[in-house]
Amino acid sequence: MLDGMNAKHSILAARAVRWMAGLLLWLAAEGGSAGTGGPDGAAVLEFADGRVRCVVESGQLAGAAELAMKTALRTLPPPEAPSTLAVRLLPPPPFYKRWFGAGSPHGMQREDEIALQPEADGVKLAFRLGHEMSHWLVAKSNPRRPPLWLDEGLAQRIGAQAAAAAGRTEKRGLARTPPDGWEACALTLDELTGLGDYGGSPAASGAFYWQAERLVDALCERLGRDDFLAYLSILSTPPVPGWQAPLRGRWWFNDSDFEALARAIAPSTPNPTVPPK
Ligand SMILES: [Zn+2]
Repeated sequence: MLDGMNAKHSILAARAVRWMAGLLLWLAAEGGSAGTGGPDGAAVLEFADGRVRCVVESGQLAGAAELAMKTALRTLPPPEAPSTLAVRLLPPPPFYKRWFGAGSPHGMQREDEIALQPEADGVKLAFRLGHEMSHWLVAKSNPRRPPLWLDEGLAQRIGAQAAAAAGRTEKRGLARTPPDGWEACALTLDELTGLGDYGGSPAASGAFYWQAERLVDALCERLGRDDFLAYLSILSTPPVPGWQAPLRGRWWFNDSDFEALARAIAPSTPNPTVPPK
């Protein structure tokens, strides 16, 4: 028979066991919750006469993946050899990361796979897919990754084009808003093109992505698609020259052209907008 104190202990112990069991059940449910992809309509998409195949793990990604790859292939060539890209959804971040607001990347590309966080907004999904598909196509067609500003600036540009296409499909206008507080972290042209790592605060990395995209936009406008791809190839093939050398030597850029590029990435430059169609 239990005395009063033991009875109180055993009630507390039973409550603790029930609480732990509840927590474990909740954690198990969190770990296997919906939205992790799975066999909900996997699709195989083909582009460029079958030279590019996308195996999309989740049916909810198929529409955005098709639109994003078509957009990316308008700028970037398909790989020489037929290639297959897997696109899959990551599980949602664990509950404690959501509680504490710990960030994880929205998407990543490694080798022949792109993994994305679940995203209900079709325009944001198209942006992230376009961004990662740009990295994949650039990596497949060049011996090494281009400098960071060029790789990320082009990925942002193609992501923005894919988002604009998705926005048109959904009849939404898209005004590009620069990241908060980026002006205070704005880089000079030399700093931007010399950066080897994102680093820094969210505002600093926001400034980097924003300015890299502006610089790639300015170069694409000035060079046109074919010459921009030739430039991309030069900067992705060892021995890699300084970023200015081919522009000066092959495309006759002079100091005033580089001053124009510096203005294109400066905080005083008006924001580009994509008007609704
Ligand atoms: Zn990227």
